[in-house]
Amino acid sequence: MISRKNLYFFFKQTPEMKDIVTPLKNLAEVHGFHLVHSIEEANIIVSVGGDNAFLQAIRKTGFREDCLYIGVNTDQLGFYTDFTINDQERMIQAMKNEELEVRLYPVLEVSVNNEKPIFCLNECSIRSNVIKTFVIDVVIDDFAFETFRGDGMIVSTPTGSTAYNKSVRGAVIDPTLPSMQVSELASLNNNQYRTLGSPFVLGPDRTLLLKVVQDGNDHPIIGADNEALSLRHAKDIRIQLADRQIKVLKLKTNSFWQKVQRNFL
Ligand code: NAP
Ligand code: MN
Repeated sequence: MISRKNLYFFFKQTPEMKDIVTPLKNLAEVHGFHLVHSIEEANIIVSVGGDNAFLQAIRKTGFREDCLYIGVNTDQLGFYTDFTINDQERMIQAMKNEELEVRLYPVLEVSVNNEKPIFCLNECSIRSNVIKTFVIDVVIDDFAFETFRGDGMIVSTPTGSTAYNKSVRGAVIDPTLPSMQVSELASLNNNQYRTLGSPFVLGPDRTLLLKVVQDGNDHPIIGADNEALSLRHAKDIRIQLADRQIKVLKLKTNSFWQKVQRNFL
């Protein structure tokens, strides 16, 4: 078993959060973990906060393949947070049995205008920032599939399927299926314009190319999870499942479907 002992805590640097995290740090040290002060030295990264904090922790630490991520919620359990701050002993126990509790989550690799790819854990969203509709040519593996006209599109991972994707009636996808789901934001459908109109799911070897038609209304906001990319102009957005997956520590007794039930039913 790989020895994972170098722990890095990722949280919002406020006095309140520091007070919350201090006992957790002490507990980790008592149990033989080594607290490190830089992300580079870490092989376990603990996010303290909600799902939004977890998404930030993953992004700010670079979607590390060689790290184990742990989400500790300060409130209720979330989708990426399997532990709460009041659950500390249980968390230490789970960490000691690392191999039993690790899940791999697929992530998206997104390249805009052929630039260096970025990763997404929930979704990549493309939305218009103008009042008029904007137009996207949707290409699957070099095959021109449809031309979309409307507000935008969401491409979500399985774990992201319960987030933005679900709000637009996308399906909830089991994270054991490496796949990406494409859903529409208010597509225009009439005798002139036609899109599939329902969300669709692509397998792990597909590449999706969204070509923003350059017609003067081509000003999308591109979102990677909870951050907007600072891009003035986007022409080609290429999305595929990344080769890497992230490792997340989970309680065996808290499956994805239990989370879905707890949160929605
Ligand atoms: P936010 O706007 O503060 O929160 C969105 C809500 O989604 C929060 O309750 C958040 O949980 C929850 N959430 C995050 N990831 C989730 C997941 N994988 N499954 C189920 N729920 C999830 O923004 P945020 O907290 O930074 O989260 C960013 C996410 O918000 C984006 O990735 C996108 O999926 C989603 N979003 C949704 C809509 C919509 O539904 N119309 C619009 C924009 C963005 P916590 O409270 O634990 O953070
Ligand atoms: Mn939030």
